[in-house]
Amino acid sequence: MASFSTRFLGCKVSFADAQAVRERLLADGHTEVGGGAADVAVLNTCCVTHEAVSKSRQAVSRAARTHGRVYVTGCAANLDGAFPNPAPNVTVVARPSEEMPDWVAGDVGAIGCVDARATLGRTRAFVKIQDGCSFSCAFCVIPLVRGGTRSRRAAAVLDEIRRRVAQGHPEIVLTGVNLGCFRDPEAGFTLARLVREAGAVPGVRRLRLSSVEVNHLTDDLVSALRETPTVSAHLHVPLQSGDDEVLTAMARRYTAPQFLAKVEPLTDFNLTTDVIVGFPAEDETAFERTVSLVERAGLTKVHVFPYSPRPGTTTADADTVPPAVKKERSARLRALSDELCRRRWCAKLGTTDRVLVDRPGRGYADDYTPWLVDAEVGTLVRARAIGLAKEGVLAVAA
Ligand code: SF4
Repeated sequence: MASFSTRFLGCKVSFADAQAVRERLLADGHTEVGGGAADVAVLNTCCVTHEAVSKSRQAVSRAARTHGRVYVTGCAANLDGAFPNPAPNVTVVARPSEEMPDWVAGDVGAIGCVDARATLGRTRAFVKIQDGCSFSCAFCVIPLVRGGTRSRRAAAVLDEIRRRVAQGHPEIVLTGVNLGCFRDPEAGFTLARLVREAGAVPGVRRLRLSSVEVNHLTDDLVSALRETPTVSAHLHVPLQSGDDEVLTAMARRYTAPQFLAKVEPLTDFNLTTDVIVGFPAEDETAFERTVSLVERAGLTKVHVFPYSPRPGTTTADADTVPPAVKKERSARLRALSDELCRRRWCAKLGTTDRVLVDRPGRGYADDYTPWLVDAEVGTLVRARAIGLAKEGVLAVAA
């Protein structure tokens, strides 16, 4: 029997992939250890930015010193040259995510079948519905390391949701690389139908989407988000830039006015986004257009990414905006994001909401705003907003 640990770097999809390997090793009879030394370490890595690759390499080096065998999986494992000289006890598994659990478990060696119903040890469960991406944004390395889009069968997704509910997860987060590309034509499923049926699974208290491209915000999906009672009033819609020339250079599939028009029906939702600052085509005027669009679109939290060229992408050799300018613009956009969050939190004062408590003293309301409330972790409590703190809305049980 092998002792093992798993760890993920990066996004919710990376988390879901690490969970799949973890559950397979547990099902094969191996013993999970929290941290520290073990026979086996599995590291699901990220390569979305240069910094992410550096962090992945550091994590692998650390694990190689404390574990007998280290399996490097995930996006950075599929990026040529990311791990040039691995230590003798390090195996870089450059394979599609679907093949990872079987490959790693096969290499570790099965001991015997035990109870497979491993819990996630978290309040919310990330259920992967789709992988890969067939878009080709000029800056993005994901299609190169994850391949083209492919979807899980809707029946398998709904089965997993039922299993996660039975394990005690009140919140389900549908996740994927490009969620809106989810399709199960044989079963007649689009993302909109999946939202309706997933949200209606008995025991689901809250359903959330990890993110969706603005191109996929169809009337049908908007109706499904609005009409399914368990759906969280939060949506993450990457913008990347508010300037049409920059969006064209990024090979994004919308213009600034189209982005505005698509999110307009959801402006009461808590809309969060991603923006790349310092893309080669971005000058000061273009950046100002991004700032202005973030405000006009009613966005709140902005995840800011200073542009970092990725190997193998269309713009791999282009990085013309000086680091100091990227830093200054990123700071301005983060300051705006903080201000927009505070405005949304302010509007909550005196109101009540359902808060899913995911750690001691903190939880998230139905629109995924952070509320600070003293209640049992894992419970969904009604709370009243009584003030503001740096981390969120101050609240008491109502
Ligand atoms: S939609 Fe664009 S940014 Fe998103 S994963 Fe696909 S290629 Fe990358």
